[in-house]
Amino acid sequence: MVLLQEGECKECGQKFWPSEALKSQIQFDHRPPLSEREPDGLDYTPKANDPAYIEALHKACHAKRTYGGDAKATTLGTDVHNRSRSKRLARAHTTHVRNMDTKGTGQHQKNAGAIRSRPWEKAKQK
Ligand SMILES: [Zn+2]
Repeated sequence: MVLLQEGECKECGQKFWPSEALKSQIQFDHRPPLSEREPDGLDYTPKANDPAYIEALHKACHAKRTYGGDAKATTLGTDVHNRSRSKRLARAHTTHVRNMDTKGTGQHQKNAGAIRSRPWEKAKQK
């Protein structure tokens, strides 16, 4: 797998070092993610272990791709983002409506975290 990619990380394009392989700093990422593949009996389409759909990544790059990393403010383009996009859009809409309601009062939106954690209560009241 690493040889097929000429020893390069699919995320950052830098060469893997032998020491990184020894320290398990290289991970294999399913691309597309298994969660987005078509279930096919006990396997998937494409097959879970098909090397054509697995990419070697640095451990850090794999984490960055999957979770968005610590430095990034959003998970845009990552697996987590794609998986939760529809849920997030619904939540963003609820927040937007609430923001529109409070606009013009001069009030700052307070307790945003508490509100965002249970948007459904507000939605039910409407
Ligand atoms: Zn990398």
